[in-house]
Amino acid sequence: MKQGRVLKAYNSFFYVLAPSGLVTCKLRGKFKNRQVICPGDLVAYDLLPDGTGVIERLLPRASLMRRPAVANIDQAVLTFAAAQPDLHPLLLSRFLVLAEWSGIPSVVICINKCDLLGTAADGFLEAYESLGYPILRVSAHEGNGVSALARLLPHHVTVFAGPSGVGKSSLLNAIDPALTLATGHVSEKIKRGRHTTRVAELLPYKEGYIVDTPGFSSMTLEGIEAQALPTYFPEMRPYLGQCRFSPCSHSHEPDCAVKTAVQEKKILPERYEAYLAILQEIQARKKDYQ
Ligand code: GDP
Ligand code: ZN
Repeated sequence: MKQGRVLKAYNSFFYVLAPSGLVTCKLRGKFKNRQVICPGDLVAYDLLPDGTGVIERLLPRASLMRRPAVANIDQAVLTFAAAQPDLHPLLLSRFLVLAEWSGIPSVVICINKCDLLGTAADGFLEAYESLGYPILRVSAHEGNGVSALARLLPHHVTVFAGPSGVGKSSLLNAIDPALTLATGHVSEKIKRGRHTTRVAELLPYKEGYIVDTPGFSSMTLEGIEAQALPTYFPEMRPYLGQCRFSPCSHSHEPDCAVKTAVQEKKILPERYEAYLAILQEIQARKKDYQ
């Protein structure tokens, strides 16, 4: 049996990139739900005499991003702008939580439009580096930092996520104009509606892949469990299990190790506030369903 990576799923076809090239595959009938396989997945397939393939097996997944489903993303470039639109800590933490929830092992915060603003946002961002999220300051317009960004891409499956208008397509274009053409971001803007049902797709790029997707477009954080939320805040992890109550929501309970860490300035207040805001949102949604 041969192995390859699913670049795109379309109708009942899967486009699988193998060392020999792109193979159009169908699913073996035993896969009752065709959604079990998504772009990014590694699969084993049988090659038929006509050159098409039949997917027999799904290989183990390292990560799974939901909405849209993309497997095995190992790097997220969370893109924001230094200004226009302004960067807000809550929005930043929402994207960080989405990346953690998706199990993406490497997360980089990329601040674009640095030509607009000198160093005003620096103080607030530095703390994130100590959480394990490297910060890359770039300007798609002036080209600063673009080569450093491009150097992150080979050998990785990378998703660019971030609010719209921060310059994701401009950055892809600055890295390699072929990427913008391939991603269709340009036509998306010219011809609204055409891409509304656009599916996620992997674009091979320098021994790696760029995930072309509307991104973490759904900002509702739907599907995240309140109990798991603290684990998506790396700085809270050392304190989990040390509270008086178990489970502890780390909001109103006495003798809460997380709250103590906030008081002792071991956890950034803005991160704790983001945690509380997201927790409240998850709990409110749960009530809606009851
Ligand atoms: P996307 O929605 O994230 O793909 O953002 P776009 O790439 O479409 O860019 C949104 C707007 O920001 C456009 O008007 C760009 O010209 C502008 N823009 C993108 N990068 C930069 C930059 O580095 N500096 C400045 N000043 N503007 C930028
Ligand atoms: Zn607690």
